[in-house]
Amino acid sequence: MQHVNSGQEMPNNSSLQRLRTRVGKFHVAEKTLLIPNMAPFPCRLLAASFRAMGVNAVLMETYKGLHLGKQHTSGKECFPCQITLGDVLVHLQEEKERLGEAFRGENYAYFMPEAGGPCRFGMYNKLHRLVLDQFEDFQDVPIVYLSSENSYRTADIMAPEKASVFRKLSYTAIVVADILDRTVWRVRPYELRPGLTDQFMETALQAMENVIFESGTEPDYERIYNLLEDIVATTASFMDPDAPRRPRIGVVGEIYLRTHPDSNQNIIRQLEQCGAEVVDASLAEWINYVTFDRGRKLRHTWNRAWLGKDHETLRLTSKQLLANKIEDLYQKWRQGKAYNRALRHLDIQKDHSIGDIERQLQKDRLFNFDIGTEAALSIGGALEYVHEGFDGIVNVFPFTCMPSTVCASVLKPLLHEMRIPYLDAPYDGTMQGNREIALRTFVHQAKQHLRHRAAKTKTRQTHDSTNHDHQRRPS
Ligand code: SF4
Repeated sequence: MQHVNSGQEMPNNSSLQRLRTRVGKFHVAEKTLLIPNMAPFPCRLLAASFRAMGVNAVLMETYKGLHLGKQHTSGKECFPCQITLGDVLVHLQEEKERLGEAFRGENYAYFMPEAGGPCRFGMYNKLHRLVLDQFEDFQDVPIVYLSSENSYRTADIMAPEKASVFRKLSYTAIVVADILDRTVWRVRPYELRPGLTDQFMETALQAMENVIFESGTEPDYERIYNLLEDIVATTASFMDPDAPRRPRIGVVGEIYLRTHPDSNQNIIRQLEQCGAEVVDASLAEWINYVTFDRGRKLRHTWNRAWLGKDHETLRLTSKQLLANKIEDLYQKWRQGKAYNRALRHLDIQKDHSIGDIERQLQKDRLFNFDIGTEAALSIGGALEYVHEGFDGIVNVFPFTCMPSTVCASVLKPLLHEMRIPYLDAPYDGTMQGNREIALRTFVHQAKQHLRHRAAKTKTRQTHDSTNHDHQRRPS
């Protein structure tokens, strides 16, 4: 790759100007849209949703370029920022080698969404811009983002008539992908023939990609649900009905690390190999949280405008509140429908409701949604898992991640007091020799927790039936 300047130079005025002009919300219709492969199932179906709208979306290979991501950063950046930077550099480099002189940076657009708030996620795309600008061939590759600040408004990156269809289709695709993930996690630990679930799911996922892509700008949701139901029903038949239930582990934490198997060293499989059944927090949970949180913020604005008798803001905010409410109801309706179809065949874990998570946090005065970040979801989500009878919680996060460190500082003492096994699992790309021992010990504790819980339930049932007999006996 041909460098223009060295990796550690301070950005000058022109590079700062490019942060405004070459990182933005551009239309992507004529481009090859490069999507980072964060979560395998959801990202594949998200790319298919883009393709359904006529966008040439490509899922980039991941984790091949970590050395490049680390080489072009100082070491203080978040781990997902280094991984995604490496991914795009490797992909563009391979494209350059494949096309030679015909390579044109402007034919691509690199998709890197952002979130507001105190986190550094909002800065990834800026830093990636500074690094791409160090390579002459990649300076013309625009970086496209959607922001959580306006609930990932899609009208900024495609024609309005497609934007609203894409919004609904991509949300459904992510919910479907979550359900397929949960189906795998529910069946794989109990499968009759090892490897069958993964093998079948690869074919099933391709079929789902095709159905989403073929649905185009007039999605046939019934066809998507029917296929989902078939996949779940078939996968459920791979289970050994006599296999005893394993301890259930709930995963919370930073969204990239907990969903990206390469960077978390396949923690879900590792836990399964140690004898657990695992459920990771879903991707739709984050989207639902963004919608929910926007509603909260709009209500605050509305209340302030009401007190200040600011009629113009009241009018505008009322309109936005209504649109937000419709979006919220739509998401609940779509998600509920998809889960109901799957639940006919398999008892997968339902998704947490954001309202319940907030109530859980408020009840125990543990954290507040006003603080924002994923810490709210992770703390509240962990408590929901406990409430649902899980036997252990794992917090997966990038080393030095701010919200996850907050989450760890709240959850560790709290779950210790509740006698629920808990494990912090930070990652930074290095292999940790004692990780396997930590996981084995943790799953052993979770098994003991399950046994203890089962014994308590049995004692309670015996006690209840004895009381019942006493009551029935004539005095
Ligand atoms: S959540 Fe953690 S990893 Fe992500 S941007 Fe914030 S600090 Fe970095």
